[in-house]
Amino acid sequence: MSDLHHPRVFLVGAGPGHPGLLTLRAAEVLGRADLVLYDQLVPERILDFASPLAEKMCVRDLPGTHPDKYPHIHNLLIDSARAGKTVVRLKGGDPLIFGRGGEEAERLREAGVSYEVVPGVTAALAAGAFLEVPLTHRRFSSALALVTGHELPSKPGNKLDWQALAAFPGTLAIYMGIARLPIIVSELLKNGKPGNTPAAIVERASTGEQRVVYGPLAELEAVRRHAGLEAPGLILVGDCVAQRPERSWWEKRPLYGQRVLVTRPAHQAGDMVHKLEELGAVVFKLPTVEVREPADLGPLDRALDRLREKQIDWLVFTSVNGVHALLRRLEARGRDLRDLGGVKLATIGPKTADALREYHLRPDLVPERTFSSEGLVEAMKPHVAGQRVLLARANRGRELLKDELARIANVEQVTVYDQVDVVDPSSKVLDHLRRGEIRYVTLTSSNIARALIATFDDTIRGRVERGEIELVAISPETGRAVRELGFRVAAEAEEFTTDGLIASLVKQVQSA
Ligand code: SAH
Repeated sequence: MSDLHHPRVFLVGAGPGHPGLLTLRAAEVLGRADLVLYDQLVPERILDFASPLAEKMCVRDLPGTHPDKYPHIHNLLIDSARAGKTVVRLKGGDPLIFGRGGEEAERLREAGVSYEVVPGVTAALAAGAFLEVPLTHRRFSSALALVTGHELPSKPGNKLDWQALAAFPGTLAIYMGIARLPIIVSELLKNGKPGNTPAAIVERASTGEQRVVYGPLAELEAVRRHAGLEAPGLILVGDCVAQRPERSWWEKRPLYGQRVLVTRPAHQAGDMVHKLEELGAVVFKLPTVEVREPADLGPLDRALDRLREKQIDWLVFTSVNGVHALLRRLEARGRDLRDLGGVKLATIGPKTADALREYHLRPDLVPERTFSSEGLVEAMKPHVAGQRVLLARANRGRELLKDELARIANVEQVTVYDQVDVVDPSSKVLDHLRRGEIRYVTLTSSNIARALIATFDDTIRGRVERGEIELVAISPETGRAVRELGFRVAAEAEEFTTDGLIASLVKQVQSA
């Protein structure tokens, strides 16, 4: 196949902000990019779709100020492609709608670099869906115009025909128009658009940070100023704007607009982040601990040998990480599940049980209600008297399970993974906490709570003490760790899982 069929550069639309609105094609090419060159307006969250190994560069960091940046952008794309890299040029919304994507494609063509264009959901479509404004409507709007508000009506060579736009038989979606809103409104009114035409301004449509104001066209600037909405934002003008509900389906989500911190290890945060976003939250991530292979694998290997030799009756897992760590080691040693053939399996809760099922292993025992060491002790007691019990655990944690079961059984523990603190003290997320830009902090284990709280400075402490930052714990055990360090726990999950934690967060928000 010729090079033509192997594009080096992808001009990709990142959509309006909501990660779910990225196209499958965009996610696919992001996943194999060596270099991602993204516009300032692209939300950081979208960059999660790129490989951790990819170089990510914001055009902000290229030399020059707008518009002298463009030659630098073009050269970087061409040079990187020629060096054999796969490059994703990522732009907000759609790359060919007010994104100068056309000019970049032209430069690539001139340079003989092969490329592909991946469309994206443009801001107007996101605004329609997330505000529930029908952009066309059988009775109210027969057309949709995407308009730039960036051109001054007085500019020589200005291409916008305000008379035509005022007479346009449908909805106007005006991009980049906030700074020139008074001029835009006066041009439309001057050319005959009624002053009472329904209108809206929306910023960050489709995200938890979406903000929107409504008003008749003639009063739109006053309404905007009153609400303090600044650029960038999208202006919608047309009768169909009035067809929306009071609050859209998105604005009714229970965590809509709530700013929430997830502190789980990076490899486990995804599911929780996704669920919080689905509920409308603005999610920040700050991994506080990480899971590693034990520094000394000897004890684990010896435990695996004893399992194979049927010298253990019960194997107990107290975390999802423990399940994966033990089974991965088993496989790495060239063994397989048959080595576990004779042993009974217990897990602390349903998530850990699910992890076992991924390996086609069915747990023999899971506590019914209380997913904690206490709950597990109670559930196991009737079954393990006089038996040999092996606890697969982290390098640190509670001794309760061992101490309690040791009263009736022959108990040993083995470290199957190490947990280490990894909070980066220079993380931008800590600045968000300092500035009061995050309201809820979720804590999914006592080690995580301790690792995070160790990074709090006086500013953050003050905010927690005044209740401006609320700590939400996954279990009483985690709550206790927080209180022992002198902080108040705003809410504690009733079911000790991340779903239980999210449910208690929703309750806490609703009661606020
Ligand atoms: N290519 C982009 C537009 C780039 S111009 C697209 O297709 O959406 C930048 C302008 O887009 C901003 O000034 C604003 O008017 C609009 N915009 C982009 N994303 C937006 C969003 N999530 N909510 C509201 N307006 C948005």
